[in-house]
Order: sequence, then structure tokens, then C-alpha cells
Amino acid sequence: MVGDYDSAGLPGAGQGESTSGGMAGDGYSELLERVPAIVYVADPGEDGLWYYASPQIEHILGYTPAQWCADPDLWAARLHPDDREWVLTREARLAADACDGAALEYRMLHRDGRVVWIRDDSVIVRDEAGELRWHGVLSDVTERKQVEAELERRAAQQAAVAVLGEHALEGASTEELMHEAVRSAAELLGVELAAVWELLPAETELVLRSGLGWPASEFGNLRYPAAEGSQAGYTLMTGAPVVVEDWDAETRFAQPRYGERRTGAGLSVKIEGRSREPFGVLIVQSMTPRAFAPGDVDYLQALANVLADALERQAIEDAIRERAVHDPLTGLPNRVLFVDRLEHALARLGRSEALCAILFLDLDHFKLVNDSLGHHVGDELLTAAAPRLKQALRLSDTVARFGGDEFGILLEDISSERDAIETAERIAAIFARPFVLSGSEHFVTTSIGIALARGGELADELIRDADAAMYRAKDRGRARYEVFDEGMRGRAIERLRVENDLRRALERGELRLEYQPVVSLRNFSLVGVEALVRWRHPERGEIPPSDFIPIAEENGLIEPIGRWVLERACRQAAEWYAARPDSAPLTMSVNLSAVQVTRRSLPDVVASILRSTGLDPACLSLEITETVMVRDAEGLGEVLGALKALGVRLVLDDFGTGYSSLSYLTRLPLDVLKVDRSFVDGLGSEPRDTAITETIIAMSRALSLDVVAEGVETSEHVRELSRLGCGLAQGFHFSRAVPAEEITRALEHGPAWLPTLNT
Ligand code: C2E
Ligand code: MG
Ligand code: MG
Repeated sequence: MVGDYDSAGLPGAGQGESTSGGMAGDGYSELLERVPAIVYVADPGEDGLWYYASPQIEHILGYTPAQWCADPDLWAARLHPDDREWVLTREARLAADACDGAALEYRMLHRDGRVVWIRDDSVIVRDEAGELRWHGVLSDVTERKQVEAELERRAAQQAAVAVLGEHALEGASTEELMHEAVRSAAELLGVELAAVWELLPAETELVLRSGLGWPASEFGNLRYPAAEGSQAGYTLMTGAPVVVEDWDAETRFAQPRYGERRTGAGLSVKIEGRSREPFGVLIVQSMTPRAFAPGDVDYLQALANVLADALERQAIEDAIRERAVHDPLTGLPNRVLFVDRLEHALARLGRSEALCAILFLDLDHFKLVNDSLGHHVGDELLTAAAPRLKQALRLSDTVARFGGDEFGILLEDISSERDAIETAERIAAIFARPFVLSGSEHFVTTSIGIALARGGELADELIRDADAAMYRAKDRGRARYEVFDEGMRGRAIERLRVENDLRRALERGELRLEYQPVVSLRNFSLVGVEALVRWRHPERGEIPPSDFIPIAEENGLIEPIGRWVLERACRQAAEWYAARPDSAPLTMSVNLSAVQVTRRSLPDVVASILRSTGLDPACLSLEITETVMVRDAEGLGEVLGALKALGVRLVLDDFGTGYSSLSYLTRLPLDVLKVDRSFVDGLGSEPRDTAITETIIAMSRALSLDVVAEGVETSEHVRELSRLGCGLAQGFHFSRAVPAEEITRALEHGPAWLPTLNT
């Protein structure tokens, strides 16, 4: 064999270790032995004979050349089971094609069992006897393969973090995001268990919120101590990632139990928001001991950071929503929440025999308390009245503060008018006890109007009826209740009169527009105005828009009024532009009511007004409120899209007063966000308002939205807003809404607020 082989032309090489020394004389074998790879000569086929393998084989695969060449099956046997089939097929085909140069990369098993990546470069050579033989080189490329795999894993991890971040921005729920995070963590770290644990308010325990490898029934139930002696607790305390490579050798923490299973290794990172307390930890556990590369730790932390941002956003949204539907003074639901609950109750009524009742309650002589003892005593009284009202009700009833000294009560599931009357009497009894206000006792009575619903009524009508009944109670001497009947439509009639007058207001020229400046917080220049409609009633004087716009919305008058406002405002803006064509144009903001936005014809109306007035669409901003989004999500996208296509800017008005969802900001084609007055009011004094406003501003900036702060009344507000990076402001601090001529004057001579600000 050996002789044969030598004659076949491999210079100076022979079979087995005996040859490597023996052949040294010719100079080639020494060279071969120095090549950091296995040089070989072998027959083709799964069990082809091996004639030569250079000594490196011992280092690379654990067999001596003699051992290797003695067993023709060894090569195929040591192929990695996952690669064996394709490698043998390829080898057979290459040999059949008498291929003169092929490189394959496959895995083999070292004698000790570890995986070795091999690059096999070979040519097929025909020897003198006409037999085909492989002449080749097997190199160990394990390290390169590992680096490649590592790079791929890192890229996949980065992509997973980016996708999670995108989903968070698109407004995915926190449940979905947590699930996605644990799934990505487990998959790309190659571990069996991954979980999000939330720190409970007492901060002594964590609860399982989401996980992979866990039964879903454990979510929200399974607890775990957050003490320093646990991996999770230690992570929370130090804020740094904690790695346990081998739980059996771990001395710092108690080994966590996963049912019957014992874990091998674990990695945990903290989930921490920007401004709130830590939310909890993100932990992965593998069932066997292992190390975690620094990149793995970074990856898990990056997932946790995206989660932290999303959770923070959720918390802020909840806080905004909670505020938006509650009265800050008494903590009771406000009118918005009351109407919402009433509507649900009315919807349920249709299906049952039960009734529901509304009590409209007003404190008698409250104005007197306010005027004689001061506002703070009035507030004290309202605050003390709230728990008493609750005391008179069942847990399932709702009591809300409508504003001032007016409260609404919703009684669901009652069987007769009698039940409502008994509640009114119970309230009277509870109010018979004096209130202690500023140290002295005061007796306060209530006037209550009751309206009953049997199904089919509208929430607004019912509240109006109960209100009318309450007025009757006041008329009849206060400290009593009245049940609504048709004869009490007096207030409704009054409303009807406003309605009729409003019909004629447009024709008679009783409506006019005023303009409130929008100011840049960078240099306090006048950058735009908001058009606000005004109505001077010939007998009743100025009626605020908040009183007549809702009526106009109900009876359809909002369309002609809205069109008039839009046309008037655009004409005015075009005039200002024409007067100073070389200056930066003012932005004109016009409010749209919910009813207008739901009309498909709106984009056409706007387009034709832009045409007839010649106003550049980029100068027109249309303000819509969030309620619009909630009410009609369907056709809305289309109308807003068509408006955007005209080139006008869309503004979300009064942000923070409705069912605020920050995800509107990403879903709708908005340009500007107006932060509601109620948040601006607490800036600098209320840390919660400041934190919320800060988040809203930060999010808007991330989404390239402009932010306008409404209701800026003090220089403190201005300071805080500038600090938070808010670009634009509007409010009495600068100017109230004023007639057009005053804006013209400001354009010509500079705004009135500038000199005062500079001093
Ligand atoms: P809005 O669009 O949020 O307008 C801002 C309101 O806040 C205006 O009240 C303005 O006078 C008031 N305001 C501005 N700065 C301050 C401040 O520093 N402090 C305080 N306390 N208030 C400030 P206004 O004019 O009574 O309008 C009330 C609402 O009526 C508007 O709220 C808007 O929703 C609606 N509205 C006004 N004009 C129109 C209109 O032409 N069409 C429609 N659909 N709605 C309108
Ligand atoms: Mg507005
Ligand atoms: Mg507003």
C-alpha cells in the first residue's frame, strides 16, 4: 500500500505516524507536518481508504494518523449527524464529476465529542493506475464559524430590539410588548425560561406578569420575594445586570424554583422608567449552566429599556385618563365619566325590567358660603360633601361632580320611583348633620331633581330633565326634591329660545371672530393666531362658545357657522399676508367641531374656501379634539387624510381632557399637539402635572410634532415650558383673544407683550 501510494505521486508522504519521521529526509514531509491543517489522500466514498493524513489530525480531531488511516469508516462516522447526509451526497457527486477543486464546510466530532468546524479543500486526482483519489486539506475553522455565528446572533438581537421599539411606538399594549420581549429574549439567548416580574407597591414581592416557559395561569398570581438575597431583588437594588453562570455553585442568592425543575444559569436586568420607580426585572434562566457574553447582557438590557419606556408611557396615559374623568377637588368622577356610565346604563336598560334614575343635586346657598367665607371654605364644603353623598348610596351607584356645587347621581337597577325618592331622603338626612368649616359649624341643605329612565332616553335629555326638576325644587323653597314631569320643560324652553336666536345670529351679524396670539417661546415673536368665535346676543349680551357651540352641534347649525368661521378666518389670514408679503406668514388656527369632522364633505368645503380666499394651505391649521377620535374612528382617517392632502396642518386640541391615548399621535396624520390648560396650570407647582407635561412634550418631539401649551397665564408657566422644550404657547400671559385690528397693530408695531417681558 505504502509503496503504491508513494508511486502515486504524493511527494515523500506515507501512511501513518511511522512515515512522518521516516520521510523527513526528503524535506517535504516536514513541511506537510508544519501546515496547520490536515493534509490527506483518500479514496472517494463513505468508506474510502485513507492513505495519508498528516499529524495535525491528532490535534484537530483527536486521532493519530495511524488510527485514522486504519479505519476507513472513521471519517464518515465522525461527521456531525446534522451534516452527515448532505456531506456524503455532495462528496459522491463531486467524485463522480471528477471535480478538480471543491471546498466544503461541515462539522465533525472530535474524539472527545466536541464539535469542530472543518473546511475541506480537495481536488480529485487520477493516479497512474487510473484510480480516482482525493488530495485535500482539512482546516479547523471553528473559531471563524463561532465569530460568524456570534455576529449573526448580535444582528438578530439588534433587529429584535428595533422591532420591539417600533411596536411600542405603534401603540401595542404593554401585555403584547412584554410577551414579545420574553419571546425574543428566550429565542435569541437560547434559554428555556424568560419572564417579566413586576415589583408590587409594597416593594417586598414581585409578581409574574409575562413569561415564556411558564403556564399562563401563573401570570398575575405567582409571587417571588424581592429581597436582596434573591437574584431579582439584588438586580433591583443594584440596578446592574446580574449573571449566575452555575446555580449549583451560586452562593449569593437562593436558587429559584421552577416547579420541579432546577435551573442551571440565569441573567437578570432591571426594568426602570425615566421618572418612576423601578417597574421590575426581566430574567432569563437556562436549564444548564452556561456563560452569558457581554453582548447578551446588553441585549437583555436593551429589551428591558424598551419595555421600561412603554410601561412609563402607559402609566402616564393612565394618569392622564384618570385625571380627565375625575374632579380634582373631590376626587369624584366628573361629568364626562358620569355621562359615559349613564349611557352604558341606558343601553342595558333596554334589556331588562329595571329602571334607572338620575338625581341632580345642588347645595343650597353655596354662593353665599363662597362669597362670605371665601373660596377655600367653599372648597372645604365641597370636599366634605362628597363622602356624605357616597354614604347615602350603594356601592354600585355613581356620584359625580358636574362643576360648582352641582352633583349628579346615577342609580342603576332600581324597581320604582320610590327607590329614587328614598335615596333623596337619605341624602337629606345625612346632610342634617352640620358641617364643620374653618372651625365653626354650618348647616347645609340640598335641592334635588329626579328623572327616571325606562329605556330609550338620551343621556343628555335625562340630565336636562333632572336639572329642570332641581330648579323646580329650588323655586319651591329649596331643601327638597322634585321628580321631573313634563310641566317642567321651562329650562328646556329657554334652551329652545337660544336655539332660535342662534339661527338668526348669523343673518343678523351677531357672530364675530376674535384672534388669540400663538407665541414662539424661543424669541416671544407672534407666529400665529387661533380664531375664536364670539356671539353678542342683543338682549343677553356675550354668550360664550362653550354655551352655544354644543347647541349648534345638536341642531346642525354648526355647519353654516363652522363654514362662516373658516371663510372669515382664512380671508383675514390672507389679508395679513398680503399686507406684509415679505414677512413670515402667520398661521391661522380654526377650531372644528366633532360634527364637522365626521362630514365627508369637509375636505371639499375647506378646499373651496382656500381657493376663494387665496390662502396658502400651509398657513391654515385645523384644530380637532380627542373626542372626535373616540367617537368615530372609521371615516375619520379618510377625512383627515384628505385634509392633509390639501396641505393644511392638523392640530390635536385640548390634549389630556378626553380618553387621551398617546397612540393617536402615531396613528393619525397630526402636525401639532395642544397641551390642555389643566396641565399647564399645575406646571412648576404640581410635580405630577409637570411630569405628565414633560412626557407629552418629549413624546411629541420624538414624533416631530409641534407642541403648543394652552392657558399660559404666568411667567412661571413660561419658564417651565421653556425648560421642558415646549416651542409654542398661547394664553392670557401674552394676550387674550382680541379683535383683528389689534393683531394688525401687533404685526406693525410689535406685540404688546414684548417690552414687558424684556423688563
Ligand atoms: P379652545 O379651542 O381650547 O380655545 C381656547 C380657549 O381657552 C378659549 O376659550 C380661550 O379664550 C381660552 N384661553 C386662552 N388662553 C387662556 C388662559 O390663559 N387662561 C384661560 N383660563 N383661558 C384661556 P373660548 O374662546 O371660550 O373657547 C372655548 C372653546 O370653544 C374653544 O376651546 C373651542 O373648543 C370652542 N370654540 C371656540 N371658537 C370655536 C369655533 O369657531 N368653532 C368651534 N367648533 N369651536 C369653537
Ligand atoms: Mg382650539
Ligand atoms: Mg384647547
